[in-house]
Amino acid sequence: MDVIRLLPDSVANQIAAGEVIQRPASCLKELVENSLDAGAHTIRVLVRDAGKSLIQVIDDGAGMSVSDARMAFERHATSKIRDAQDLFRLRTMGFRGEALPSICAVAQVKMTTRRANDEVGTLLEINGSQVQKQEPCQCPVGTSIQVQNLFFNVPARRRFLKSDQTELRNLITTFQHVALVYPEVSFTFVSDDEIVYDLPVGTCKQRIESIFGKSKSKLYTSQLLEIEQQTELVTIRGFVGKPEAANKQAQQFFFVNGRYMRHPYFHKAVLQAYAGMLPAEQLPPYFIYFDIAPEQIDVNVHPTKTEIKFADEQSIFPILMATVRAALGKFNVVPSIDFLGGDIEMPVSDERMRANAKLPELHVSSGYNPFTTQRDTHSAQRESFPLRKEQVIPHWQDLYEPLRQQPQQAEQAPDPLPGASHPQAVAGGYIACTTDAGLALVHARRAHITILYNELVAQLQNRHGASQQLLFPEQLAVSADEQPVLEALLPDLKHAGFELEQAEARHYDITAIPSVLGNHNAEAALRAILTRAADGQTAVREQMQQQIALTLAQSAAIPMGKALSETEMQNILNRLFALQSYRITPDGKTVVVWLSAEEIARRF
Ligand code: ADP
Ligand code: MG
Repeated sequence: MDVIRLLPDSVANQIAAGEVIQRPASCLKELVENSLDAGAHTIRVLVRDAGKSLIQVIDDGAGMSVSDARMAFERHATSKIRDAQDLFRLRTMGFRGEALPSICAVAQVKMTTRRANDEVGTLLEINGSQVQKQEPCQCPVGTSIQVQNLFFNVPARRRFLKSDQTELRNLITTFQHVALVYPEVSFTFVSDDEIVYDLPVGTCKQRIESIFGKSKSKLYTSQLLEIEQQTELVTIRGFVGKPEAANKQAQQFFFVNGRYMRHPYFHKAVLQAYAGMLPAEQLPPYFIYFDIAPEQIDVNVHPTKTEIKFADEQSIFPILMATVRAALGKFNVVPSIDFLGGDIEMPVSDERMRANAKLPELHVSSGYNPFTTQRDTHSAQRESFPLRKEQVIPHWQDLYEPLRQQPQQAEQAPDPLPGASHPQAVAGGYIACTTDAGLALVHARRAHITILYNELVAQLQNRHGASQQLLFPEQLAVSADEQPVLEALLPDLKHAGFELEQAEARHYDITAIPSVLGNHNAEAALRAILTRAADGQTAVREQMQQQIALTLAQSAAIPMGKALSETEMQNILNRLFALQSYRITPDGKTVVVWLSAEEIARRF
């Protein structure tokens, strides 16, 4: 007797549902993607009890004919591909024809749908794959699908669901992933009658702000830098956070061809672009959209997987890193004005930039007011205008190395800032000074870090770090893991002024240290450098030097809150404002806060 028989569809669907529909969020994803595939302009999402009792998606898309409405719930029924070849030309979100049959196998589904040219629509009710009702109905153009009591007939699955709080968070994350890709579609998300999101149509940047501008870790468009790169292989677009927008739980999103994806390897590329700019454990927010020929990626991995395989990841990695860097590099050389509250648009040409003279050009000749729109073009300081032509051309290498051709400027520093010659200490470690530009508040420790960093980078690049012999060598013991990292660092450490002699297998004597370290703990500084280097951010030589310079600067800088004499404060201000880029520390923290005359007037 033969024992093999075909499973009834309802059973097959329930099994498939286990793969496709794991939780309310996966159901929401499928429904919203269908609405987008149907060309909707407006999508409304309603959920109850974190989607456990209700998930409803209402769209104004194309709708379905009577027979399509019925067909949509059949297994492998899809309008989106016809043959296997189409699989490699995918531009729609769905294609498997699995979602609706899976959902209706494990829930109570009610759908109404109507096409624009049809007088009446169709109502369809299906409970656990059993069609309960199909009849004509009055309904708006588009489709509304209600999914009630998910897993009502699969108690094990229902029990497996997490708390409402967790499931709601999953729903919201899923919603965000889609909403971030379709700023041209308006979305609402209502949970238990409470409006969580009401997102109008707008630009991509506006969409990001309408989603995250009110969240706990607020993110504003002024904190984002635009990136754009087109190559034959891939187009990369989107936004990355300025270093100062970094935080412990930054919003980080990759999308490819309109789909959210996770990509740990590309994530590394982005982080490498920020090397040396971020404080420990702080992550930059990013929203990066890849566009690539569909045959270059494989989305067919798994319906619920967000990892996507690229055919040529190795080639995309450096493109991505350079793109992010270019944006950061531009930012680094363009001081934008904090108190204006917004960005100065990146000027495209040198001429435009000169016309746009609202830059706090504080190291030019005294009497110069950076807040008037006229610029003294005959200024003798013209050459030191920080936005030199070669720094605005779109070669990121040039953009990112503003310090390389810039020898120390401190010695030939111009006059102190107009009116800045009477610095005042402000409790807590700040220095206040008045300038023609208004009131400046300087964070003394960060200013010192920035100054030392710039000096050290210059020394490292010229290979003449000032060194100081130790009377009594200090000891450094390294682990087996650390040793190769240390060996790789040795040449640069030497340029920085360290001298290390290997005493035993994994023990070194520190016989000389960079003079900048003075009486500070040399071993601790070396350890910090090792830790940073071991984080894998040192693939590039330049970065290695920057890491060393930053760590040494942080070790040697005055501590926060240290009392300073007037001479010391004046010294810091002179050296700081002589720098090309003094507005933020190398790891992206604010050094100077300005209060313009207008701002002061406004406050009274
Ligand atoms: P897939 O999206 O992979 O094609 P689904 O099971 O999600 O498979 O949907 C089956 C079909 O039902 C789709 O191909 C589409 O033709 C139709 N459909 C589903 N949802 C909608 C909708 N909101 N508006 C119009 N048509 C829809
Ligand atoms: Mg679908």
